[in-house]
Amino acid sequence: MDHTKINLLVRLQYLDNLMENIVSLQKGLPEEINALEEDLAFTKRQIEARKKVADEHTKKKLHLLEAISECKHKILTFKEKQTLARNNKEYDALSKQIEYEEKEIAQGEIQLQDIAHAEQRTLETHQKGRQLINENRYDEIAEDMIPDDVLKQQLEDLTRQVELKKDELNGIVIETADDVETLKVKISDQRRHIEKEAHRLIDKYDHLRSGTLQNAVVKLNRNACSGCNTRVPTNRHTMIVQGGFYLCESCGRIVVHERLFDEAAD
Ligand SMILES: [Zn+2]
Repeated sequence: MDHTKINLLVRLQYLDNLMENIVSLQKGLPEEINALEEDLAFTKRQIEARKKVADEHTKKKLHLLEAISECKHKILTFKEKQTLARNNKEYDALSKQIEYEEKEIAQGEIQLQDIAHAEQRTLETHQKGRQLINENRYDEIAEDMIPDDVLKQQLEDLTRQVELKKDELNGIVIETADDVETLKVKISDQRRHIEKEAHRLIDKYDHLRSGTLQNAVVKLNRNACSGCNTRVPTNRHTMIVQGGFYLCESCGRIVVHERLFDEAAD
């Protein structure tokens, strides 16, 4: 058996292990940041939606109040004209116009009341939400029940958390950038080398590593595969000690003597 081929593969596993160690320093930070950013975007959308409704209400109220004041002004004018009316016909015509403006005012006031009711309902919903928060009954709180100030605080907290986590991750990335670059080059060189010398071994290696498994090549530990702890048959020990490899019957990993990993580290 050509032992140098397995040495090449152990070296690749050694380098991939080093890379894995660096990635594990990031402690799931990228995933954590993604989740926080999703929450942040959701909170922002909610705040924007609430602001849109509030702005629309303000605009509509202003418009209605202006219209009502205009109607009232017109009524005053019509009433003045009535005092100067020369006949009943003229007087009645003005009365009809006053009646029309009064109806307009009544309609406007109904619309103002609708807005006030909607605002009151929102306020009550938020009060209910605040009460649930005070009682720690968070699972009963619907999104629209969260009071504005709590939502704003939530936005600030999430923004700060995302910044902190990003700083932490950036620190790790910057700290390890040189090592990662060097390793990337070494790994790709090693892969090219093995593809030429032992492409079947690297196919096996890549196949094993195509799932969540990282360690395709493992050490023989107390006469067992250190990947899955299944015993390696005694008649294979000599071959492993001599620098060969054994395919674990249980997990399919490539089992080698630990000496090969020490050699790969040089
Ligand atoms: Zn195994």
